[in-house]
Amino acid sequence: MSGMEQLLVENRVFNPPKAFAKQAAITSMEQYNAMCKAFEKDFNGTWGRLAKENLHWKKPFTKVLDESKAPFYKWFEDGLTNASYNCIDRNIKNGLAKKTAIIFEADGGEVTKVTYQELHDRVATFANGLKKLGIKKGDRVVIYMSMSIEGVVAMQACARIGATHSVVFGGFSAKSLQERIVDVGAVALITADQQLRGGKALPLKTIADEAIDLGGCEKLKHVIVYKRTGGDVPMKAGRDKWMHDVSAGQSKVCEPEWVSAEHPLFVLYTSGSTGKPKGVQHSTGGYLLWAMLTMKWTFDLRDSDVFWCTADIGWVTGHSYIAYGPLACGGTQIVFEGVPTYPNAGRFWEMIQRHKVSIFYTAPTAIRSLIKASDTDANVHPNKYNLKSLRLLGSVGEPINPEAWMWYHKNIGGEKCPIVDTFWQTETGGHMITPLPGATPLVPGSCTLPLPGIMAAIVDEAGGDMPNGQGGILVVKRPWPSMIRTIWNDPDRFVKSYFPEELGGKLYLAGDGAIRNKDTGYFTITGRIDDVLNVSGHRMGTMEIESCLVANPLVAEAAVVGRPDDMTGEAIVTFVVLKGKRPTGDDAKKIATELRNWVGKEIGPIAKPKEIRFGDNLPKTRSGKIMRRILRVLAKGEEVTQDVSTLENPAILDQLKEAS
Ligand code: ATP
Ligand code: MG
Repeated sequence: MSGMEQLLVENRVFNPPKAFAKQAAITSMEQYNAMCKAFEKDFNGTWGRLAKENLHWKKPFTKVLDESKAPFYKWFEDGLTNASYNCIDRNIKNGLAKKTAIIFEADGGEVTKVTYQELHDRVATFANGLKKLGIKKGDRVVIYMSMSIEGVVAMQACARIGATHSVVFGGFSAKSLQERIVDVGAVALITADQQLRGGKALPLKTIADEAIDLGGCEKLKHVIVYKRTGGDVPMKAGRDKWMHDVSAGQSKVCEPEWVSAEHPLFVLYTSGSTGKPKGVQHSTGGYLLWAMLTMKWTFDLRDSDVFWCTADIGWVTGHSYIAYGPLACGGTQIVFEGVPTYPNAGRFWEMIQRHKVSIFYTAPTAIRSLIKASDTDANVHPNKYNLKSLRLLGSVGEPINPEAWMWYHKNIGGEKCPIVDTFWQTETGGHMITPLPGATPLVPGSCTLPLPGIMAAIVDEAGGDMPNGQGGILVVKRPWPSMIRTIWNDPDRFVKSYFPEELGGKLYLAGDGAIRNKDTGYFTITGRIDDVLNVSGHRMGTMEIESCLVANPLVAEAAVVGRPDDMTGEAIVTFVVLKGKRPTGDDAKKIATELRNWVGKEIGPIAKPKEIRFGDNLPKTRSGKIMRRILRVLAKGEEVTQDVSTLENPAILDQLKEAS
């Protein structure tokens, strides 16, 4: 049996705890199936009902879905709404004015809280200030800030006046920032003097100045600066203003700009794991609807919850599950400025204890690095903290390997919290395939089943359905409200990338490979389409070999790529980070042999890596994803000439150039 088949008959099944199921929004598989049926019977009617029930409409829509210009789908188009009204004002009207909206914890540990009323006042005054500068509906505003209440205020204020925001992750360079300002045609940039991460102050404003000086930003008239540290920054007269000055003296009343549900709420560039980032354009109504529904269905959000999504607002996860979803549902959430390893690798656990977090949502890359840290330093092991407040855990961003899943379940969830392994993308706007915590029996390493209304399927290279048990290409057969509307400035690339001719032009192509279990129909993501290896005619997902390596007690992280090989078609090259020190010389040779034998024994001799290279880390995108496209170049022994602007740690490439 191959490793992938083993993964699929993974016999550890975790049923939803009874107490959890009893109170959940979706309490059983019967209920889940009934919801799916409702969509099958009346697709438009069901979406229309949910949109009416969940969003405030200034003017109701008369048509749910317009497919006349497919794949440029339109949802609820003639309905008028406003995202900021739905996230803030509506909650105040419903009696939540005094409820805490955001608990902000700064890098250094200071805690600041805002209620829904306070958030409203900050958003309204800033929105009025933006209007006074002449920024209006349809304008684009780039936001280049670190995690802060002000970052959320900036996004909400743009939404309030109908300006389309484009958030650029604060870790990006001047060049990456400039490219995005130019591509999106921004009239204003909102940034901060400095950002604090792990005790270090980083000069955001200076980088922003450098970006603008690179040229092409002629449309940009205003640079608005949030004073975070009070560090010394040059301000350019006429162009630059302090954020507090923009808000000062403005009215707390700001009538929202009522926009069509199709109005672009934001453009967000993908993380660049596979190529040049794409400016993904999202809508207002359909996007917000799905952010809300997934908060309710996947996260089972309750009034009393303290929700913490550790993503940055620079990524889609920080849009849907920080800036919009939790607020639209009237929730209380944590916003965290710092990094998981400062002042030590117990920071996340300490914060869960301090704020009594009940729902915790993070990425496999963070989990794996904290496993490594707690293995070497018992003081930061989660068992040193009181994590009893937790009732639900989530994972996003990459496949979570079963070993990390088990560790998360045992050490963080105390074996009582369901884990929702949420598969989705910048392009999908919200979760697509994920367990429902009160209903779905969990299997480590599987994102289980599509959410109701999401018609996910697996097809072959010609778009034909694949039977369960056979791997293929993940697609979505019907549109859904929060889907990408287009690639900003590049509708052709939108059609080519996501609705390719080869698959018939009607299927949404996610770009990931997947396989469904023969018995349960559960989905397992096997990696990006181009990460499927063909060794001597055997097709294998890179993910299966990686999971196997990470299951070895020596290994912290592993990435697998293919390299053309005369004998076998493709040869497996593996990049490994050990829990201990990076081995060299004979040590490296010895451990490489050991790991090769391990893979041979666990999966089969065919999966034995031809080559193993050791590094202190792996090349990662700024959102922490392994950049396999770079590893493929290194594996071939070639120079890296590709776009590495989204790479977090370019210095690591040198270590990985040669076989140990
Ligand atoms: P680019 O599209 O520029 O290459 P990216 O795909 O990394 O970048 P994102 O939209 O941030 O940009 O990430 C979406 C991808 O992340 C998915 O297509 C999938 O490969 C991976 N992913 C996210 N969540 C999961 C999950 N729960 N399980 C498996 N893979 C996941
Ligand atoms: Mg992608």
